Parts: sequence; C-alpha cells; structure tokens
Amino acid sequence: MNLLIFGPPGAGKGTQAARIGAQRGIPHISTGEMLRMAVESGSELGERVKAIVERGHLVSDEVMGELVEQRLAEPDAAAGFLLDGFPRTAPQVEILDRILGDDRRVDAVLMLEVPDEELVQRLLRRASVEGRPDDNRETIEERLRVYRARTAPVAGIYQERGVLRAVDGTGSIDQVFTRIEAVLDRAAAEGA
Ligand code: AMP
Repeated sequence: MNLLIFGPPGAGKGTQAARIGAQRGIPHISTGEMLRMAVESGSELGERVKAIVERGHLVSDEVMGELVEQRLAEPDAAAGFLLDGFPRTAPQVEILDRILGDDRRVDAVLMLEVPDEELVQRLLRRASVEGRPDDNRETIEERLRVYRARTAPVAGIYQERGVLRAVDGTGSIDQVFTRIEAVLDRAAAEGA
C-alpha cells in the first residue's frame, strides 16, 4: 500500500507512522526527519534549510520534490511506502503525482485530527522531552498557522479523490493506532 499520513504538528504523525510502517513492512519516510538529519550532519542541503526549518516555515516545493523523488526511487519503496510530512502544499501534491506516474498511486491518506489546545500542550511537552529546535511556543504558533494556510488544502484534494480517511487522534498512542489499523483494514477491503 502507498500511504500518506497527514495532520497538524503535534497530531502524532511520526509516532503512529513508525508503528504503521513496522506493522505493514513498508518504509516510513518522514521528510521532517530527513531535513533534521541533513541539518545535524551539516550537509549542503542542511545548511540551505536550517533557518527555514528552525523558524517553522516550509522548505521550497522544488527542494522537497527532489528529496522525495530520490527517496521513493530506493528499492525498499517499490512495494509500498508511508510518507509522513509530504505533500504539505497543493503544488507538492502535483509533484507527488508526477513522481508516482501512471503505475503507482496513493491508496489512502490518513488524517489525524486533534483539537488545537491539545496540539499546543503536546508540542510544549515534546519540547521539554526531545528538545527539537522548532518546538518552542513561538514556532509552534507559526507551524500551526502555516499548516492551516498551506497544508490544510491538501486534505481537500485527497477528499475529492475519495482516499482521505479521517482518524480521531486523541487518546493514547495505542488507542489511535487501533483506530488507524481499523481504517486501513477497511481501505484494503474496499480495494484501495
Ligand atoms: P515535521 O517533522 O513533519 O513537523 O517537519 C518539520 C519541519 O520540516 C517543518 O516545519 C518544515 O520546516 C520542514 N518540512 C518537512 N516536510 C516538509 C515539506 N513537505 N515541505 C516543506 N517543508 C517541510
């Protein structure tokens, strides 16, 4: 299955994606993680994107497209993948369509839904536990703003295509994972 996981910062995408990937035997491809690793390694890409990521802004669609195209060309993604954090803008949806071409398509898009107040609480907690440089109150507000303005429209596109699957992202990690499993089993049964 070719899957996308989607939702505001703090919705639990990364946590759930890692579990889904392990369970289904498909690579979990997190563009945020790829960018953070590039920044940490001090690579040329890392130098280019550091300030953007740390401010909670979006890296350009062109750069992201190249990164994802290269990653999806790896052999482990041939039989399925779970993309976490991409596409994040309407143009990135088109880029992904082009990368997948005629032979591959997105089977299901999981959208994790969590109320705003809980998102901010979760992100502030993560800031103290993981020390991610973009988890501070100012950047959190900015990332939520960017999500609403640029990323929320992506849901509408997949909704129109009939592949969007909303999942209640509140409760424990196990509870959310159980809901996701049910949604994916249903999608598979419907021939997605
Ligand atoms: P995430 O771990 O998905 O929350 O991503 C962390 C940060 O990486 C985001 O706030 C953006 O700065 C950057 N980023 C990740 N994925 C994308 C993308 N598809 N397009 C643009 N920027 C991205």
